[in-house]
Amino acid sequence: MEKARPWLGDPKRTVEILQKYGFRFRKKFGQNFLIDPRVLEKITAAADITEEDVVLEIGPGIGTLTQYLAEKAKEVICIEIDNSLMEIHEETLADWDNITVLFDDVMKVDLAALLAEKSPGRRVKVAANLPYYITTPVIMALLEQELPLESVTVMIQKEVAERIAAQPGNKNYGALTLAVQYYADVYLAANVPPNCFIPRPDVSSAVIRMDLKKDKIPVKDPGRMKQIIRAAFSKRRKTLVNCLRSDEGAGFSREQVEAALAALGLPADVRGETLSLEQFAALSDLLDGQA
Ligand code: SAM
Repeated sequence: MEKARPWLGDPKRTVEILQKYGFRFRKKFGQNFLIDPRVLEKITAAADITEEDVVLEIGPGIGTLTQYLAEKAKEVICIEIDNSLMEIHEETLADWDNITVLFDDVMKVDLAALLAEKSPGRRVKVAANLPYYITTPVIMALLEQELPLESVTVMIQKEVAERIAAQPGNKNYGALTLAVQYYADVYLAANVPPNCFIPRPDVSSAVIRMDLKKDKIPVKDPGRMKQIIRAAFSKRRKTLVNCLRSDEGAGFSREQVEAALAALGLPADVRGETLSLEQFAALSDLLDGQA
């Protein structure tokens, strides 16, 4: 079918649609719409969408990225909280018959049931320009629920992207880095300045891709490891021993932590920000059952 051009992403077309429907941006929903076709192509390329893929898009807005995804994918399932966008979609998404929009809050949707229904037996790719007020909860919900996902490619705040993609010893390395890298291999795909959006956000943005690991790092008690990681980064300038022994949740003594560090060949005054995920897993296994 011949699809009406220009698509959204062309700033003139986007403004025309917003004016035609008298759309009012709702700040509380993190509504910053993309108006740069090169960025839309970059996200779609980074997500590596093929015609066999079912794609989950969170927050389609007026349908800008959705058009690009639908052109490449077998099917696009969208979840959008703002149902005032429904009548706009009737115009902007009319040329594609492979798009379904569910008007709901992504944090309340039973994603496992939705994906099982829409993509039985095949892993789904997530692609989105995420609403920034819930970036981390959305990413962690996607990863922690152990959903049948292949990858998650999202535009987020640059500062959060740098934390997620950081390596040990880097100033951005922390609990969020490890929480995400436990589940996924992370790549920074592009930096995106504020002028690629309407309205312009206050921060710079970046596109990251997270490929879900088929084999996560082996650790006896992942919950325990996460608790140790949280405690290790709770006080930035303290040594790992001091963070763990003063953390009530972790509940270890100085001697226990020092003995475990010695067994790993690490100095007693080591700081959490220098340990790799593998080292945190080994530390967690050594401390298992000791608190
Ligand atoms: N994809 C569009 C684009 O790139 O131009 C819009 C992206 S905009 C940054 C974020 C979108 O997420 C908005 O459409 C907003 O209404 C929607 N949104 C915000 N909170 C949401 C939630 N809890 N569940 C689903 N969608 C949400």
